[in-house]
Amino acid sequence: GKFVYSFNEGSKDMRDLLGGKGANLAEMTKIGLPVPFGFTISTDACKDYLNKGGMLDDEIVREVYEHLDELEQVMGKKFGDIENPLLVSVRSGAPVSMPGMMDTILNLGLNDDSVKGLAAKTGNERFAYDSYRRFIQMFGDVVMEIPKSKFDQIFDGRKKEVGAEYDVDLKTEDLKVIIEGYKELVKAELGREFPQNPKDQLMEAIQAVFRSWNNERAILYRKLNNISASLGTAVNVQSMVFGNTGENSGTGVAFTRSPVNGENKIFGEFLVNAQGEDVVAGIRTPQPIDQMKESFPDVYGKFEDIARILEDHYKDMQDMEFTVEEGKLFMLQTRNGKRTAEAAVKVAVDMVNEEKIDKETAIMRIAPEQIDQLLHPAFDAEELKKHTPIGKGLPASPGAACGEIVFSADDAAVAKEAGKKVVLVREETSPEDLAGMVAAEGILTARGGMTSHAAVVARGMGKCCVAGCHDITVYEEEKYMEIHGVKYHEGDMISINGTDGSVYAAEIATKAPELSGNFGTIMKWADEIRTIGVRTNADNPRDAKQAVQFGAEGIGLCRTEHMFFEEERIPKIRRMILADTEEERREALAGLLPYQKGDFKGLYETMAGKPVTIRLLDPPLHEFLPKNEEDMKELSEQFGIPLEKIKTKTIELHEFNPMLGHRGCRLAVTYPEIAEMQTEAIITAALEVKKETGIDIKPEIMVPLVGIPNELKNVKKTIDETAERCFEQAGERLNYMVGTMIEIPRAALVADEIAEDAEFFSFGTNDMTQMGFGFSRDDTGKIIREYVEKGVLEEDPFQVLDQRGVGKLVKMAAEEGRKTRPNIKLGICGEHGGNPKTIDFCHRLGLNYVSCSPFRVPIARLAAAQAAI
Ligand code: PEP
Ligand code: MG
Repeated sequence: GKFVYSFNEGSKDMRDLLGGKGANLAEMTKIGLPVPFGFTISTDACKDYLNKGGMLDDEIVREVYEHLDELEQVMGKKFGDIENPLLVSVRSGAPVSMPGMMDTILNLGLNDDSVKGLAAKTGNERFAYDSYRRFIQMFGDVVMEIPKSKFDQIFDGRKKEVGAEYDVDLKTEDLKVIIEGYKELVKAELGREFPQNPKDQLMEAIQAVFRSWNNERAILYRKLNNISASLGTAVNVQSMVFGNTGENSGTGVAFTRSPVNGENKIFGEFLVNAQGEDVVAGIRTPQPIDQMKESFPDVYGKFEDIARILEDHYKDMQDMEFTVEEGKLFMLQTRNGKRTAEAAVKVAVDMVNEEKIDKETAIMRIAPEQIDQLLHPAFDAEELKKHTPIGKGLPASPGAACGEIVFSADDAAVAKEAGKKVVLVREETSPEDLAGMVAAEGILTARGGMTSHAAVVARGMGKCCVAGCHDITVYEEEKYMEIHGVKYHEGDMISINGTDGSVYAAEIATKAPELSGNFGTIMKWADEIRTIGVRTNADNPRDAKQAVQFGAEGIGLCRTEHMFFEEERIPKIRRMILADTEEERREALAGLLPYQKGDFKGLYETMAGKPVTIRLLDPPLHEFLPKNEEDMKELSEQFGIPLEKIKTKTIELHEFNPMLGHRGCRLAVTYPEIAEMQTEAIITAALEVKKETGIDIKPEIMVPLVGIPNELKNVKKTIDETAERCFEQAGERLNYMVGTMIEIPRAALVADEIAEDAEFFSFGTNDMTQMGFGFSRDDTGKIIREYVEKGVLEEDPFQVLDQRGVGKLVKMAAEEGRKTRPNIKLGICGEHGGNPKTIDFCHRLGLNYVSCSPFRVPIARLAAAQAAI
C-alpha cells in the first residue's frame, strides 16, 4: 500500500487517511496558497505500526526516505547540511482534532554540524544555538520522555551561574554549554547519545507520534468525546519557516470571523519575532491582529486575501495559523473554527445571506446542545477563570446561578421577599419545595440523578440546577453543608454552573441571555425543514406560556400530581388519602375538583387550541403523606382526625418499593373516584373554555403505567362514563381522546392489544429505562456516573435513550400499535424527548411528536430539523 503522501498529492476530503491537519495542508497547497512544503505519513501507517507491536514496516521507512529526497529537492536544502540545512517540524494530526496527543517538535534536523549551517544561513549564531537547545529539549521531552524539569535544571543552573536574569541574557557561549549539558543528560538517562543523524531523529519522532495515540491523555480524551480508538493518527513533516529571526518576522493565529460573536471581521493575535509555540504557550502576550496591519501592511493585505480565499473555499469560518519569515507569509494550518453559540448562529445566518451556504447547511452547523447557551444566564467566561470549583455534581439544568445559601424552601421564599438572591441547597428536593425552587436563583442537591425531582422540575422552569453533588453533606436542620471538610453556612455566597456541574464558593458575575434576531431566523428555518412535531411537558400556565414562546406546538405531558402540591391543596389531598371509606374519599375529592378545573382552564387558555395531553394521577400515594410529626398534628387539628390514626395510616401506606407500588393506573383501578374527579375537571374545563372563548378544545386524556391491556380498558370505562355524564349535565359535547403512556416494558410487548383501547401512545422513557435496565431513577445516579467513567456504559441511559435495548421496546410498541390502529398517534414524553440523538431516533421511527421541558423546545426544533436533513 501507499503510506506517505506529499502535500501536493492529497486533498481536504482525505481526512481519514491524512488526518485533519494533513488534509487541510494538502488542500491549501492544491489551491496555490503559500504552504511550506512537506509530506504526511498516513493513519494507515499508524495502524500498521501499532498492529505490529511498535515496529515500522520497511515499506513505510522506504516511502519516508523517498519523500524526504523530494522535499530536499523542492527546498534546495539537505538534511544535516553544514551550509544550508533542511529543518522540519513534526506534528501529529488525527482525523478529528485531539488536543490530548503529542506536542509538536520543531527544528528537527539540527545537529552539531547543521547548527553551524543555520547560523551561517541566518547570520545569527545565537538564534541557531538557541534553536538547537530548544530542539534537544523538545525531542528529549516528547520523544525520549525525559522529564522536562531535568532540562530546566540545567538551563536555570547556567542562568544562575552567569547571573542572567532573562533567557535572552544568555550568550551563545552559554547556550553551547547548556547544549553539552543536555546531551550529557540524554546519555545518562538513556545510555546512548542524542541522535546526530537527522534521519534517525525523524524516524524516532514519527514513532513517538504513533505511540502518542495510546498515551493516557489521548485515551481519556477519546473516551470523553466518543472518538473511536481505531482511527489512528497521521504525522505531518513540514519544512521549517522561522518567525523568530528578527523584527521582520513573526507568527500568529487568526479566525476569518469572530469566534465570540460571529462578527465578519478577522479576529486574532500576532507576535513579532516569535515561533508559533510562543503564542500557544502564552509565554509572551501577543498583540491584537489589527496591530499587524500597522507593522506589516503588505503581509497583512496578503493575509486578508488568503483568509477570504480559505473561507470561500471551505464555506465556513476558518481558524488559521501562519508565520512571517523575513517579510514572507506562510500558512501552517487551517481548520473550521470552534465558536460560541452566539457566533455559530450569526455566522450561519450571515453565510446563507451571503449565498455561501444553503439553509440546510446552516442548520447542520449548529450543535443543538449549544443553543442552551442562548437561553439561560451564563457566567462571564473571564470571571469564571479566576475561580476554582469546590465540588462537582451533574449538570442537571443549564445556566448559571449565584446567591446566598439557604437550606429550606421556606427560607428561600422569605429571602426572596426580602429582595435577596439565594441558591437552594437540599439533600434532594420534593414537590413541597416547589415554591422555594421558584424563589431561588438555582438549586443544588447532594443526591439524585438527571431525572431526579430537582433536575426535572428545574429544567421545566429553565432554572439552573446542579444535582447529585456527592461531595456535599447537607445538614438541613442545622443549616450548614460540608464539602471536603469545609463548612458553609446559611448566607454564605455560592455560585453553581448548571452547564457543567461545578460548584464555587464565591460570587461570580452572570450575563443575561440575549435572544438575537439571528436565533429566530435559524428557528424559522428549522421549522420549515423538520417533519416531527415538538410539544412541551408543562403543568402550569407559566411554563406553558414560556414553552409556546419557544415554539412548542402543544402539551405532550401535564403531570397532574404537580398541581396538588400547593400550600392550600396539600391538606385536601392528604385528607383524601387518609379516608377510610369511598364516601369520605369522594368528599375530599370534591374539594379538589375546583382547583383542578381551574388549572386545566388556565392551560387550555394559554395553549389556545393547541393539543393538550393531561395525564391522570401517577405517583405513589405515600408521596403526599405528612412528612413529620408537625405536619401530622396540623392535619389532625384541621380535619379532626386523631393523631394516632394518622400515624397508623402512614405506616400502613408505607411501601418498600414505591416506584413499583401503588401508583399510575393502579390508583385509578383501585380508587376509580380519583379518575372520575380528574376526568370531570378535564371535560368541564374544556366545555367552559369553549363556551367562554369559542376555542375548540380536544383534550387528550392519558392513563399512566399501563402494563396489562385490561388496566386501560378498566380506566377508559371510568373516563368514558364520567365524560358522558358531564356532557349530559352540560347539554353539550366535545371530542376527546383517551390514550396511554407506554412505559412498562410489558406494555411494549402487548402494544397491539393496548392499541385496541388507546387512541394514542406516549412513550414514558424515564420509567421504561428504569424498568428496562432495572435502574432506580432516584438512587442510581452515582452508579451510572461510575459506569460511564469505567466505560461499562457509553452514556447515561436516562439522558440519551438506549436505542439498542429500551429503544427496541419503543420501536416494537410503535409497530405493534400501528398493526391494530394504523393512524395511532405516537409521541415521547420522557426526559429523552429533548435529547438530540433520541430525537433523531424518534424521527426515524416516524413518531408524530417529541415532548420536552420548555427550555429544551428550541433545541428539539433544531435537532428535529437536523434529523430530517
Ligand atoms: C416517564 O416515565 O418517562 C414519564 C414521562 O413519566 P414520569 O417521569 O412522570 O414518571
Ligand atoms: Mg413515568
